[in-house]
Amino acid sequence: MITGNYDYIIVGAGSAGCVLANKLSESGRHKVLLVEAGGTDRKFWIKVPLGYGFTFSDPKVNWRYNAENDPGLNGRGAYWPRGRVLGGSSSINAMAYSRGLPHDFEDWEASGATGWNWGQVEQAYDALEINDEFGADGKRQVRGDGALWVSDLSDQMHPFSQRFLQAAQDIGWPVTDNFNGPEKEGLSLIRSTVRKGFRWSSADAFLRPAKKRSNLHVVTNALVEKVIVSEGRATGIRYRIGDKVHEALATREVILSAGAINSPQLLQLSGIGPVELLRQHNIGVERDLSQVGQGLQDHLAVSHFYQANEPTLNNRLGNKFGQLLAGMQYVLTRRGPLSVPVNQCGGFIRSDVATTGPDVQVYCNPASYSVPASGQPKMDKEPGFLLSVQPCRPTSRGEINIASANPSDAPIIQPNSLATEHDQYMAIRASKLLQKLATSPTITKVTQKRVAPDIMTMTDAELLDNFRARAGTVFHPSCTCRMGRDATDSVLDARLRVHGIRGLRVVDASAFPNVTSGNTNAPTIMLASKAAKMVLQDAEMSV
Ligand SMILES: Cc1cc2nc3c(=O)[nH]c(=O)nc-3n(C[C@H](O)[C@H](O)[C@H](O)COP(=O)(O)OP(=O)(O)OC[C@H]3O[C@@H](n4cnc5c(N)ncnc54)[C@H](O)[C@@H]3O)c2cc1C
Repeated sequence: MITGNYDYIIVGAGSAGCVLANKLSESGRHKVLLVEAGGTDRKFWIKVPLGYGFTFSDPKVNWRYNAENDPGLNGRGAYWPRGRVLGGSSSINAMAYSRGLPHDFEDWEASGATGWNWGQVEQAYDALEINDEFGADGKRQVRGDGALWVSDLSDQMHPFSQRFLQAAQDIGWPVTDNFNGPEKEGLSLIRSTVRKGFRWSSADAFLRPAKKRSNLHVVTNALVEKVIVSEGRATGIRYRIGDKVHEALATREVILSAGAINSPQLLQLSGIGPVELLRQHNIGVERDLSQVGQGLQDHLAVSHFYQANEPTLNNRLGNKFGQLLAGMQYVLTRRGPLSVPVNQCGGFIRSDVATTGPDVQVYCNPASYSVPASGQPKMDKEPGFLLSVQPCRPTSRGEINIASANPSDAPIIQPNSLATEHDQYMAIRASKLLQKLATSPTITKVTQKRVAPDIMTMTDAELLDNFRARAGTVFHPSCTCRMGRDATDSVLDARLRVHGIRGLRVVDASAFPNVTSGNTNAPTIMLASKAAKMVLQDAEMSV
């Protein structure tokens, strides 16, 4: 059944798709269809910043993927949550705001993504953000006129978070007010995509203001099964709602924003991918593109817990009475422990003074918890805290391939973690930073007990073993349809067009040439804002 003709069809209403839906429908000149597999994001635990734990494994809003057993992680498999809801993963993520470091984007440009160097992406970030922060007079002020709220929540954070900044100073690490500002190196209290006590997802920032436009049509609970390709051109999509199959046609472009797992899956299902894979699943070949699904990068972090001898967030939220009080405070004022995401302090640190820039991201949370098989984290009753380290720029690359020609079957995710010597070396160096922080005078003073395994006594070999045995994904898959020079080394050109197929782009985290140093929501939103300009420029040129 053909349900409509559009100028642009966007697949996926996630971090990137919501930006595109807004920008492409803004002028009113283009008819835009946005198709999303999930449903409404109007849910209590999506909106509450500390509700993260509840959406982490909720099948109503989450694809709940699992990666294959990974040789680099001692054969362990891993749970990979992804948002399946309006806002996509920006509706279920931990809201830490991180632009990435300048050299990340210099490397994008060097790998063939012309126009994506730091100078250019910095301008795009500046235009996107509206910063809710404290001025020199200590009063709240709002800076910038973008749509993406980035808030300094330090006044709502647990006082224990100050301990981490003191600890950094003890050991000579820089402390910065905001690692997204001019001083990018050092520990700081984290800024978050939160607005006045509520999560501020890409759907909140970009989709909601555009939804009333008559030229934007949003379809939810619709699984896109393939891109329709005719004579080397993308002409539309096929999607399913329940047991009904629909087709929509695009006169200008189809844009995949289905995320780093589903965008390569959709290309492969549509006959665009490695020819052997397509033949193996009896899929007609539209374009042999060997790099589709290849190049997967992600961040791994290892976390260690500590029992504290002074109160932490556990004292407030580790018991029913405290939870009730915090709930009442939140409902009445939008403030208090529930109004702040789980990551309170962190930043970018050099693993060695001789390195050219920060190469490890550090997270310090004033809380300790366990994650049972149900997937819903449970805060400890006794006071505790967490220290965690994540090498910024892994060089290992994994892959994502369809398991069958059935669009409802999850693709096979092989992260291929710690496959390079560089990544193994960085796992050790990052772990040594954790040792250093944990033995700083301030952390030593507030530590009641180091929860096993105790990283302090480990040799280099043991640190690597510990990392392989315990490190987990930080949920930043990217690069599976990366930009680059040509079809031999990439999937997209620097304007995010799929090599060799007209009228088809991929605009989401899969387009990154390399994973950025920090969290990936901000770079994805930035990428989509620049991509929207390119799409509109190309439309002008073709008039
Ligand atoms: C648990 C978690 C915590 C995270 N924490 C942070 C953090 O604190 N800070 C940060 O910066 N980043 C964080 N991230 C990462 C960040 O959220 C993602 O990198 C970013 O949202 C990716 O955006 P995207 O547009 O590429 O994909 P997504 O936002 O995942 O959007 C893809 C959309 O496409 C839809 N879709 C997929 N397939 C189909 C189909 N076949 N048909 C129709 N629709 C489809 C999906 O349902 C989804 O809505 C986190 C991620 C997770 C999962």
